[in-house]
Amino acid sequence: MADVRDVYEEQEAATETFRDHLATMDNDGKRLWIFPKKPKGKLTNYRSLVSYVLLIVLISGPFLKISGQPLLLFDILQRRFIIFGQVFWPQDFFLFVIGMSTSVVFIILFTVVFGRIFCGWICPQTIFMEGVFRKVEYWIEGDYMSQKKLDKQPWNREKIVKKTSKQIIFVLISVVIMHTFMAYLVGIEKMWKMVAEGPGENAVGFSAMIVLTGLFYGVFSRLREQVCTTICPYGRLQGVLLDRQSIVVAYDKERGENRSKLRKGEDREAVGKGDCIDCNQCVYVCPTGIDIRNGTQLECVNCTACIDACDSIMDRIGKPKGLVRYASEQNVADKTPFAFTGRMKAYSAVLVILLGVLTSLLILRSDFETTILRTPGILFQEREDGMITNLYQLKMVNKTNIAMDIYLKLLEPKGTIEFVGNEIQLEEQGIGEGAFFVAIKPGLLEKMSSEISIGVFAEGTLVETVQTKFLGPAK
Ligand code: SF4
Ligand code: SF4
Repeated sequence: MADVRDVYEEQEAATETFRDHLATMDNDGKRLWIFPKKPKGKLTNYRSLVSYVLLIVLISGPFLKISGQPLLLFDILQRRFIIFGQVFWPQDFFLFVIGMSTSVVFIILFTVVFGRIFCGWICPQTIFMEGVFRKVEYWIEGDYMSQKKLDKQPWNREKIVKKTSKQIIFVLISVVIMHTFMAYLVGIEKMWKMVAEGPGENAVGFSAMIVLTGLFYGVFSRLREQVCTTICPYGRLQGVLLDRQSIVVAYDKERGENRSKLRKGEDREAVGKGDCIDCNQCVYVCPTGIDIRNGTQLECVNCTACIDACDSIMDRIGKPKGLVRYASEQNVADKTPFAFTGRMKAYSAVLVILLGVLTSLLILRSDFETTILRTPGILFQEREDGMITNLYQLKMVNKTNIAMDIYLKLLEPKGTIEFVGNEIQLEEQGIGEGAFFVAIKPGLLEKMSSEISIGVFAEGTLVETVQTKFLGPAK
């Protein structure tokens, strides 16, 4: 496989040609494989730490319970979602819509201010690629030069052993991660049960698992950076979301140019040379195969590897760090340091408000959902004792984890409620349905259609008040 850097050498002369094609494609449209140099440095260490924490959270998520409920469960088949132990039903769909709308606004504002920080630090693609698969690759095949050498050499014993063992580990990781995802969909207990029963009992689940594991393995063993550079819609949006004030991983061309190789004893400032010594270390470490010195590019996932690489070079040649750093294009052009500007503060305040609104909606969500409808096609009945009755249909959703005895009471006007059959016993996270009559003395009805108020009591406590209509005879 051709290495992307070999091709770079040829393209370097034509300054803007990098914008016309993908860095990972040659002139014939063939994929150029990237062998990124292993990044080292302060930001890489922080990113590794973040990825370990996120991986631990992801793997342990299905095992964690709150009040007997999973921390997170996305049971699509049963249309039941559990987030931080709270059960969400289809009736809570409006929360989902508000949540999604809030998230879209959040993502847009966040990106306008902070660029692709999400991609470099939190995105699952980066976490799995750089935090898991790439680490296995470095461990088995060594750093980029060894990997290139191994790739070029014939299929001898060493190459077969290294390449095969790497792929086996990739498959095993994919199996574990996909089982974890499955546990988020069906619950950890059911997932273990399905595993114990074997493929014979769960043909559909097993087939889905094979397909998903194959896709996951394919993404991280072959597709890799192509997900970020050509497929991810968020990446494609950067062109319209970023502006000159957005924070990106930026090369300080004011300071770095004119770039040239380092010559011993040369006074670079005196001869008008910049701090970039054209060592290409920032290019060698880039997992998407680009040269950050060409400016902000869609392919840059803000992984910070080039910052660390350049900082170590600056250290070695005795220049201040930060030739490549987090900065806005305006910071670089105006030679101003990074500052939390008024615009950032305003956008951040909006982000906090949005999060607050969403959190409040989740916290204030009612634990019960009651629907009371007059039975269609029936007007009213007049009983022998003179009471006027209307028949109603009741549906209740219990979103709590506690089974409850439910009773209804007419709050306004005075009257009685008589269930047809048994009263409702709501199971934990259960749905209860029934029918009941409301009986009211005709003297208390002022109109043909009166507003009545029904109290829903769970375990003796009023949990909801429902307004509905009651039909009676004309006055
Ligand atoms: S690592 Fe720094 S000095 Fe070396 S080429 Fe990149 S920007 Fe220039
Ligand atoms: S240019 Fe730098 S930050 Fe962007 S992807 Fe490449 S190494 Fe990562």
